[in-house]
Amino acid sequence: MLDRFFSLFSHDIGIDLGTANTLVWVREKGIVIREPSVVAMHKKSKKVIAIGTEAKNMVGKTPGTLITIRPLRHGVIADFDATAAMIAHYIQQVHEVGSMLPSSFARPKVVIGIPSSVTEVERRAVWEAALNAGARSAYLIEEPMAAAIGEGISVFQPNGVMVVDIGGGTTEIAIISLGGIVVSRSLRFAGDEMDQAIIHYVRLRHGLLIGEKTAEDMKIKIGSAYKKSSKFKVQSSKFKKENETETDQETKIRIEEEKGEKMAIIRGRDIETGLPKSIKISETEVREAIATVLAKIIEEIAGVLEESPPELTSDILQNGILLAGGGALLSGLDSLIVERIHMPVIVSDDPLTAVVRGTGKVLEDDKLLNRVKVTGGLR
Ligand code: ADP
Ligand code: MG
Repeated sequence: MLDRFFSLFSHDIGIDLGTANTLVWVREKGIVIREPSVVAMHKKSKKVIAIGTEAKNMVGKTPGTLITIRPLRHGVIADFDATAAMIAHYIQQVHEVGSMLPSSFARPKVVIGIPSSVTEVERRAVWEAALNAGARSAYLIEEPMAAAIGEGISVFQPNGVMVVDIGGGTTEIAIISLGGIVVSRSLRFAGDEMDQAIIHYVRLRHGLLIGEKTAEDMKIKIGSAYKKSSKFKVQSSKFKKENETETDQETKIRIEEEKGEKMAIIRGRDIETGLPKSIKISETEVREAIATVLAKIIEEIAGVLEESPPELTSDILQNGILLAGGGALLSGLDSLIVERIHMPVIVSDDPLTAVVRGTGKVLEDDKLLNRVKVTGGLR
């Protein structure tokens, strides 16, 4: 009864608490918030001064008194207060927009997707953070499960489904059957690790220091996993147009095409002279730079398949491996996986939103929620 009363002025919400991006789904509205998982705060007092895009824009530019952190960077909750502040901020934000009642009235039901490596203690902490932020009930579900549900896969069948979610800080590999996770691994390397590999490569080969943002831009714009990717070719014409409208300052890199290969012109600091310098990097070089990280991820996928009961492996051979998370957008990654482990691969329709779409579906279906939640309910 009380539940119904509160739901009158609360927007029930689903949150994908990613290591790189936080997305919020509101019942009957869909995705309303998409922001980087970054918090800026005062170094000493820990007072939060910015969250999301605003905080991300401060990264690498803060004076000594401020710090920017990514509270979930490696899949574990590195900073609990910052995580709690982020959850509270988004719950509030959802209720401020277009609501006639003050947000303190809101008592939403909240479903949060969390990396499967998050410990029991940390889960409890996230759950409490949501309740402290005003949720009337909070439920946690594991990200690979959410991604599969988001993609519309029926997870309750006695039919093995494999999900590989490559995010910023973590790669989640899981095999799901009968509504539960049968085998899983959560790796501490994903998109961020690829960016670091690019930074390392450019320093070693070209004697140039570049920042994380430049490395990530390069990965997104000219990065690829596989040489003969037909997908890559199809995308390239669309790709050029997008670039024409971009300003140099914002992305710090420019793309050109040379002998059928994409080249990025990047700026950084010369190690020897300490002065700014521009160089050209080819898509082949970027592919070389990230190859080791990709090989490590694929090795772990193979490892999980080895641990899986044979019946489920044969299901996966039929159904294919679902690729989700921002890393799934790396062109040619599907081809590389197919080549290395001989299993079909399906790339999510919209890899960056698979998890939050899953939390949205769970939010709207109590039966589903009760079967897939790992922690949750009322206090
Ligand atoms: P998380 O769930 O950990 O928050 P996301 O699923 O949001 O992570 O993915 C973010 C990661 O995906 C980042 O490392 C980002 O650089 C990477 N990414 C985004 N778009 C692309 C792309 N087109 N190609 C390769 N990597 C990408
Ligand atoms: Mg994610």
